[in-house]
Parts: sequence; C-alpha cells; structure tokens
Amino acid sequence: DIPRIYIVTPTHTRLTQKADLTRLSYTLRLVPNIRWIVVEDADQPSDIVKNLLASSELHYTHLFAKTRPESLKKTAERWRPHRGVDQRNEAIRWIRQNAKQTGVVYFADDDNTYDIRLFEEVVGWHTSLPRNISTDMAGFAVSLQLLDDNAGAQFRATAASGYLEADFIKQLGVTLSDLEPRAEECTKVLVWHTKTEKSSIKNEALILKWYNYTSDPNIEV
Ligand code: UDP
Ligand code: MN
Repeated sequence: DIPRIYIVTPTHTRLTQKADLTRLSYTLRLVPNIRWIVVEDADQPSDIVKNLLASSELHYTHLFAKTRPESLKKTAERWRPHRGVDQRNEAIRWIRQNAKQTGVVYFADDDNTYDIRLFEEVVGWHTSLPRNISTDMAGFAVSLQLLDDNAGAQFRATAASGYLEADFIKQLGVTLSDLEPRAEECTKVLVWHTKTEKSSIKNEALILKWYNYTSDPNIEV
C-alpha cells in the first residue's frame, strides 16, 4: 500500500510558471493517493495557479505566503537567500493542523523533473549522500508522525547556504542511522534538479514599435 503523500510545492510568479506547474501536475496525475499542496509566494492567490489547480484533476490545497523580508537577508554563510522557505513552512503548518492520518511529506519544487517511480520509494527518508545529512530538497521525505513529534521543526532562512535541508532534518532529531536510503541503496536517479530558462518577451516591445501590433494581454500564458 502506498501511503498518502503530501507533496509540497512552493511557487512564484514568472513567465515560465504555468509551463512548469503544468508539467509537474501531469507527473502527479500518474501518482496515486497524493495531496498536492501548492504555496504561492504572494500576498494573495493568483488566477493562474487557481485555474491550473482547478483543472488539474488532483487532490490539492492552494495556499499562499509571501516571503518575509527577514528571509531574504544575506550573510557571510548565506551568500544567496534560500528560496521557498516561508512557503514550505506554511505548508508544514497546514499539514500539522489538517493531516492527522499517516503519510509522508515530500518537498517538490515546481521546476524539477520527477520520475514517478520516485513516489513508490517515498516511505521515510531519502538521501543521495548518506555519509552525512547532506541532501537536496527533493532528495528526502519525512513522515507525518515525525513532523508531529517535533512540532517546532521548520525551515530556517538563517541556515547557511547549502544547509537548509540539513538544518531542518536535524530539528527532527534524526541522525544518520535513522535514514532509510531508497532507490536501490541510492544507486538510481529518480529526480533531476532541472532549471527552466528564464523567458524573455522583449520582442513584444519591438513588435509594438515596428508594426504597432501587440499580443492580446488578456490571454493567460
Ligand atoms: N520560489 C519562491 N519564491 C522565490 C523564488 C523561488 O517561492 O522568490 C520557489 C520556486 O518556485 C521553487 C522553489 O522556491 O519551487 C525553489 O526555487 P528555485 O527553483 O528558483 O531554486 P533552485 O532550484 O535554484 O534551488
Ligand atoms: Mn529549482
């Protein structure tokens, strides 16, 4: 039996957002027993995400949490702010409050590529580097039980660069021996940290200038 999987996806407005979320939603259609928790980095939900979720045919929860200015501060150990922190914490808050059955939580950023066999593996911990707790956000899952047992655990924007995941996992009281390596002892790659190239629509301005023509701004992209 595959346990219920809560899939947490932070997302932010950009030209390629709908493309990325469409691709992810089609992947998730192939996975049984999930709830997709999509958290917008915004002060209010957007129509793009609202419409996409409504037509996704998935069980979903639509949340929003604007990244706080404190989360964006840079320090010597954090040369680039962590992304998606406040959104993942909002999802964790929702899960602690609303999801009391057994299950696991997996943090799936909106632009990665996921092999659906990954979700058959999500039964505890995932890590790609089992020597220490050194894993990407997409490299592990955590049980609801563990989240409830460690009610204060959350992602901390103050974590050093590269340590957002380890800082969170340590708060769950987990050590190396508690990890359950998956994917044939971590010999199979089931998720890719892909990045969608930033789109440019600068030609729109030129077309307007040269031909006095413009795309219909009411069409959702
Ligand atoms: N994200 C966000 N707000 C931002 C930037 C990113 O909510 O200002 C989300 C983004 O949509 C993604 C996750 O946080 O789901 C990780 O961001 P990104 O993919 O840009 O980071 P990287 O892959 O470079 O770690
Ligand atoms: Mn990414």
